Amino acid sequence: MTQDVLASFPAIEIKKDESLSHYTNTKTGGPADYVAFPKSISETKQLIEYANRHELPLTVIGNASNLIVKDGGIRGLTLILTRMSQIHASETEVVAEAGAALIATTKAACHASLTGLEFAAGIPGSVGGAVFMNAGAYGGEMSEVIEEVTVLTREGQLKTLSNADLDFGYRHSTVQDYDDTVVTATFKLKPGKQPAIQARMDELNTLRASKQPLEWPSCGSVFKRPTGYFTGKLIHDAGLQGHQIGGAQVSKKHAGFIINIDHATATDYMDMIHYVQKVVYEKFGVHLETEVRIIGEDA
Ligand SMILES: Cc1cc2nc3c(=O)[nH]c(=O)nc-3n(C[C@H](O)[C@H](O)[C@H](O)COP(=O)(O)OP(=O)(O)OC[C@H]3O[C@@H](n4cnc5c(N)ncnc54)[C@H](O)[C@@H]3O)c2cc1C
Repeated sequence: MTQDVLASFPAIEIKKDESLSHYTNTKTGGPADYVAFPKSISETKQLIEYANRHELPLTVIGNASNLIVKDGGIRGLTLILTRMSQIHASETEVVAEAGAALIATTKAACHASLTGLEFAAGIPGSVGGAVFMNAGAYGGEMSEVIEEVTVLTREGQLKTLSNADLDFGYRHSTVQDYDDTVVTATFKLKPGKQPAIQARMDELNTLRASKQPLEWPSCGSVFKRPTGYFTGKLIHDAGLQGHQIGGAQVSKKHAGFIINIDHATATDYMDMIHYVQKVVYEKFGVHLETEVRIIGEDA
């Protein structure tokens, strides 16, 4: 497909054998055979249809802030949607393309004096990734503000899914169960007072910066919260804070984060994840399930 995929889309930037460590928030990860950067729904649709027609594995990535790409990389065609990033605010809603930064979307809502999305002010994902994950923070989550999303099926058909269709749960939406690609999301918000919205966003961002190691590459909270426990406390109580494997370290500031402090590889991350799971299970009998999505092949 070498010549084909590049020649078929002269207007779309497509890179061959591109290291995904340039794009992941952990700064780790192996190469994608091909990585394309569509700028519109139409370009995304054409690429999906191409992959379908040629039976190529297809991977869709947003801002890669909740992702570990293994060191062997990803075969087939990978789409990074961050250039498809239009945001439109009206009187009671914001419609954003999937690649728009969630942070930019919260700013657009604030600018339009719309309240409801403040909780997401510091979540560093894209809108598509946030819907996929039902991202949430400080008592809010996507399920409470999403009215509907449009997706492209693997056959390139556009489909609208309502909030109910998405069957949101803790860090879960039905997008995880199918091969659909989110292309837009509509947020249902309420008219509010801009200074109050801005003040709440500022407050949450200050809180976030005081608790999270934002100065280091990471993928946010690596593990889900097990029922009845706090992940950070379990990892802290297991004595794992500061533990280092290769260049990956359990953050001393926030035990739920694994930071890349010294040229870590994805393998360092995977080894650390397994080590933390093993130690926490041995000490407390609790299995920590990963929240971070792990994709690609071993080196
Ligand atoms: C410092 C830091 C703080 C964080 N804080 C929070 C927090 O407070 N709350 C929280 O919930 N998360 C948090 N996260 C995690 C992350 O930002 C969210 O999960 C975010 O929603 C992921 O979006 P993304 O675009 O980066 O997704 P990616 O990491 O690119 O992808 C995640 C998954 O979504 C899929 N995906 C992405 N886009 C699409 C699409 N358009 N269509 C279909 N599938 C898609 C990918 O295939 C992948 O499986 C944090 C991460 C970091 C690094």
